[in-house]
Amino acid sequence: MYNRLSLKIAAWTAGLMYPVCIGLLVVLKVRWPWVVGAIFALLMGFVTYAVVYYTVAERLELARSTLRQIRKRRFDNLEATHVPKSPKSDELSVLVRQVYRTGLAMRREIDELKRMENYRREFLGNVSHELKTPIFAIQGFSETLLDGALEDPRVNRSFVDKTLTHAHRLNALVQDLTEISRLETGALKMQPKAFDIEDLVGEVTVELELQAQQNDVTLTYRMLPDLPPVLGDRDRIRQVLVNLCDNGVKYSEAGGTVEIVAAPVPSGEVKISVVDDGIGIAPEHLSRLTERFYRIDKSRSRRAGGTGLGLAIVKHILEAHGRKLSVQSRPGHGSIFSFSLDAAKK
Ligand code: ADP
Repeated sequence: MYNRLSLKIAAWTAGLMYPVCIGLLVVLKVRWPWVVGAIFALLMGFVTYAVVYYTVAERLELARSTLRQIRKRRFDNLEATHVPKSPKSDELSVLVRQVYRTGLAMRREIDELKRMENYRREFLGNVSHELKTPIFAIQGFSETLLDGALEDPRVNRSFVDKTLTHAHRLNALVQDLTEISRLETGALKMQPKAFDIEDLVGEVTVELELQAQQNDVTLTYRMLPDLPPVLGDRDRIRQVLVNLCDNGVKYSEAGGTVEIVAAPVPSGEVKISVVDDGIGIAPEHLSRLTERFYRIDKSRSRRAGGTGLGLAIVKHILEAHGRKLSVQSRPGHGSIFSFSLDAAKK
């Protein structure tokens, strides 16, 4: 296939050079100036075609075919595109390179959109699954009660009690979902301020005391000497501690201990750990613990009132503080969940 741009420029060159050649040949008194002039003009046309083809048309074609791939969303072939190595060589190379980079940027964006779409679909599936269980249970118990169990003193109270438990679960789930969506959309802004970690830890242990007692677990705390005030969003860090201690209590056996430890570290930060001697976590689960709805033992989590969102919320709050949650655990021996906060300047 011939190249139309090269052909056009070659035709113009030949057409313009023909009279010039004839003029020169007449002055030089060459025989058959019309024929010789035509041969010269044609030769110049050929040379121009080749030069334009190799310097311009080839790279224009490359830019066109790359754009075509982008338009058809065929990004797999993009890597195979032969992009000029040195983008500074001339404007055309810069253009080809820009087209190629636009393709790469679009591919990244489309990949991200697909990932988000999958994530959303999976999340919706999980949410509806989680909501179904308590809703069905509430429906089932209410229907059984209406069908006559209400008048049966052996079961009526326990059925109402179970209905209430499931209503509480539904409530916890909706609260955690609201929380996580606010955290993920960035609607929940952290307001870091200096605060006393010992005061906060004291409040958290009082809040969870009753739950710990009901599970026959001892909840204590230990503050190492010379603790400086820390910098963070107090209410959110409180939520982190509540979720971690709540897990410590839920996943410990009767007679177990959960301890919150705060210690200054040489980097000038304060490390806060929630240590339990509970059931522990096998290594293969550790990397997935903060995924939403990830539970090792689903029925144990549900029985204990877990929503499967506690650690996902913890992760988001710590990330918003620029921190990470670290977990060490041994099955049968217990777990340590820890994070650090900046010490506030006194
Ligand atoms: P849940 O509401 O199920 O507790 P989380 O997100 O708080 O959800 O925790 C996810 C899972 O991680 C739990 O279901 C449990 O299997 C495991 N897990 C969390 N904390 C502990 C712990 N201290 N000891 C043992 N397992 C834990």
